[in-house]
Formats: sequence, structure tokens, C-alpha cells
Amino acid sequence: MSGWHEECGVFGVIGVPKAAELAYFGLYALQHRGQEGAGIVAFENGRHRVKRGGGLVSEVFDADDLAALGGSLAVGHNRYSTTGSCRPENQQPLVSHCLGGVIALAHNGNLVNAWELRQDLEREGSIFQTSMDTEVIVHLIARSHRETLVERAQEALRSVRGAFSLVLSDGRRLIAARDPDGFRPLCIGRIGEGFLVASESCALDILNASYVREIEAGEMVVIEAGRMRSIPLDGKRDAHHCIFEFIYFSRPDSTIFGHPVDPVRRRLGHVLADASPAEADIVISVPDSSNSAALGFSERSGIPFEMGLIRNHYVGRTFIQPIQHLRDLRVRVKFNAVRSVLEGKRVVVVDDSIVRGTTMRKLVKMIRNAGASKVILRISSPPILFPCFYGIDTPTRGELIASTHTVEEIRKYLDVDGLAYLTIEKLKEAAPAALGYCTACFDGVYPIPFSHTPSKEILENGGDWGQSPITKCEEPWSPL
Ligand code: AMP
Repeated sequence: MSGWHEECGVFGVIGVPKAAELAYFGLYALQHRGQEGAGIVAFENGRHRVKRGGGLVSEVFDADDLAALGGSLAVGHNRYSTTGSCRPENQQPLVSHCLGGVIALAHNGNLVNAWELRQDLEREGSIFQTSMDTEVIVHLIARSHRETLVERAQEALRSVRGAFSLVLSDGRRLIAARDPDGFRPLCIGRIGEGFLVASESCALDILNASYVREIEAGEMVVIEAGRMRSIPLDGKRDAHHCIFEFIYFSRPDSTIFGHPVDPVRRRLGHVLADASPAEADIVISVPDSSNSAALGFSERSGIPFEMGLIRNHYVGRTFIQPIQHLRDLRVRVKFNAVRSVLEGKRVVVVDDSIVRGTTMRKLVKMIRNAGASKVILRISSPPILFPCFYGIDTPTRGELIASTHTVEEIRKYLDVDGLAYLTIEKLKEAAPAALGYCTACFDGVYPIPFSHTPSKEILENGGDWGQSPITKCEEPWSPL
């Protein structure tokens, strides 16, 4: 499996009727965080109902499903597999029968000690149903000797290391937690008498709910009987929010880590224009992910912003399909160049990132074919040199173009007249100052060491931690 994939989106709601319907719309707004599958578990009067499936939220659920799911409490998940293959049993929310009831769990992130914990648990007799790191958490909860679910969850989450922004419920209470580094975002909202929890605030906006706050790094929040309480998970660590959430993952209309995304992305464009100015007639973005950064570049440079590429929104993201030749096709299906905008123009293309370089190479060809006289590329992030182990399924080092090529070699490969990236220092200058960040994909400084062999192997030799330790999926989920 290859490609840099989306991570996941999680959603929880408690204290409102038709909770599944709210979860549906919440997941709809979080669709960009995972398109491989979606699921909702709804609870009501001691019963639970589950619907999970492969594909987009709108493909998985219809109106009848939502009516049948009902619920006064619901947990939802959008999936792109990071750890665990794409087999049907790996869909989330995970539903487990334990502690005399049912527990539903939705997880965004990646646990770096899941493999060791799983081996220990299996040695002691645990039988795993999935190949997901997330299942380790359920086993730890089930085996805990503490009395209440809250205490058990607290104990379990103290044993796992890595990235987790999760939502958990037994049908009575909604528990939401973030790892002590706070890699992935997770926020709380209010709707009437009810509470919502979501990966990004855009999932609250779609429901006209109010944003309350971000769940803190290392905080567990328990919502029950209309009240919310906060429990610390562990000793305080310095936070390491994934800076790539600001660069690419999150929607620009979201607030993550307590800060709105759009102004950050625009600032990335501003510092990029200051650091690497260009002589050109127009600035264009690669819609939609680099729109805000390109606007920022245009604002600062005074070069007019134009829509030189049009995106077909009815195609999923480039990376939905892991098979190389299909991905190539998808780039062509997804974008088209606007000849009347580009013809005879010196064009600055602002993109948020280059992973393998596949997309950009094709786009440059397209832009040149549409008559651009010059193509200058500006990237609103530093070169991606290292894989991520905290929730993004990244290619191996060897596949990351910046890891194996110099900037000049990349420029030649992409066939552009100029290429500049942001430096890590400039990136940090543009990002909200008060936060601590994980910048491992740019500098290889991993805030949480991973002791298990698969990750080390990948780092040094390449490999496939997301798939290999447990089971490998041969069939991709959704055919093109
Ligand atoms: P590539 O063709 O491999 O260089 O992909 C680069 C493009 O993928 C950029 O235009 C980014 O907007 C986009 N991108 C960056 N990170 C991810 C990711 N994790 N998942 C999907 N797309 C991504």
C-alpha cells in the first residue's frame, strides 16, 4: 500500500434526539479526513445499533438507516486506515461486548506501542478480532481491574503511547480523550441541552452548534447526565500538535488546537512570498487545499490571484486509491487547466506540499499545455523528508521525493522554472506561537520514540508498518 493518506475523523454526540442524524452530518463535514469507510453506533434506552460500510458517508447511510439508528447518543467515524488493513472488520467505531454491555470506540491517530501491547495481551489469552491498533485500547479497558468505565479508560489510555484523539461510549456516557502530546485535534461543542465532540469544528458548524473549546492534550472529558467533567490522563508533557493539520489536513473553516486554520494558511502564504518572491503575472492555487496559502501569497506579493486550475469535486481525493496507475488517472480526472487564464502568463503555482511529486508533475504539464509562459512553484511547507508514525499513512522515506532528491533535482523533475519551499523556521513563524508542534515529517524529530521493530525498520530501510505487522489487505475497499 502506498500513498500519503488522510487520517480519520471522529464524532460523538450525547443528549439529543436522533443522535445518528447529527453524527451523519458531523461525519459529512469531516469527510476530508477519511473516505475509505464510515460508521455510526447509536445508543438508546440500553440498546445499540450499528451501521458501518466502505466508501463515503453519503454512500454508507441512507435516510432509512438514520431513522433506524435513531439514538440519544452516537459515536461516529470516518476511516482512512493508518494501522490495520482495510478489511471490513477493521471499520470503526469498534463495537465490543464487554463489562456486561457494549462499548463503542472511534479513534483518530496511531499508537506506537500497540504492537508490543498486543503481543503481551495475546500471550495472556486475549483474542483480537481486528488488525487495528485501536482494539488494544478496548482489551486494556476490558481487562482493567478498576471499577468504573471512566477509571478503566483512564488506566488503559495511560498504557498506550502515540497519537489518539478518541470518542468512547457505553451508551450512558460519552468519553473523549486526547493523547498527552495532542497530535490530532479534538473539540467540544454544545447543541441545545446536548454535547458534541468532533475532530474539527467544521462538524459543529454544519449542525449550527456552538464551539466550546479544544480538548486539552492529555485530557479526558466525561459527559454524562447533561454534565461535563475533565480528568487528566497523565503527567503533563510538552504538547506536539501535528503542524501538518494547519498546512493541509484540516479544513480552512475549522478551528483546531484552539486556532482558526484559514488565517494560519494565509500567513504561510505571506511568509512564503516574503522569503521567496517571484516575478509573475498571476498566482494560482491547486484547489482546494492550497487556496488559502495562495491567497496569502497573492495578498503579500501584490500579484493577482486567479483560478487557473479547476477541480472536479465529484472525484474523491487523489489518494483514495492506493494503486499507482489508478492514482495517475485520478489526477487527470480531478484537475483541468483554464486556458483563458493561463495563456501567455508567468504563473506562480502555490501548493501546500509535495509528497512524491506525482501530482505536481502532471499539473505543471497541464499548465504549460494551457499556454503558460513560465511556471514558478512555491510550496507552503518545508520538504517532507520523513514518514509519520502518529496517524498518517505515509510512504517510506525512499518514496518521498525530497528525501532522495535535492531541490534543484526536484525542480528539474517537475519541469518548473523556479521552486522554493518554506523553511521550518518560517513555518513555525507563521503557525500560532503559543503551541508546541510535531514537525517530524520535516525534521525527523519524533516526539515519542517507538521501540517496536516495524517502525524502526521503516525508518531505516522502508517498509509498511501500517499493514505488515498483522494482516495485509489484498483488495482495496472501493473500486474506482
Ligand atoms: P504527490 O503527488 O505525492 O506529491 O502529492 C502531493 C499532493 O498531495 C499535494 O498537492 C497535497 O495537497 C496532497 N497531500 C499532501 N498530504 C496528503 C495526505 N496526507 N493525503 C492526501 N493528500 C495529501
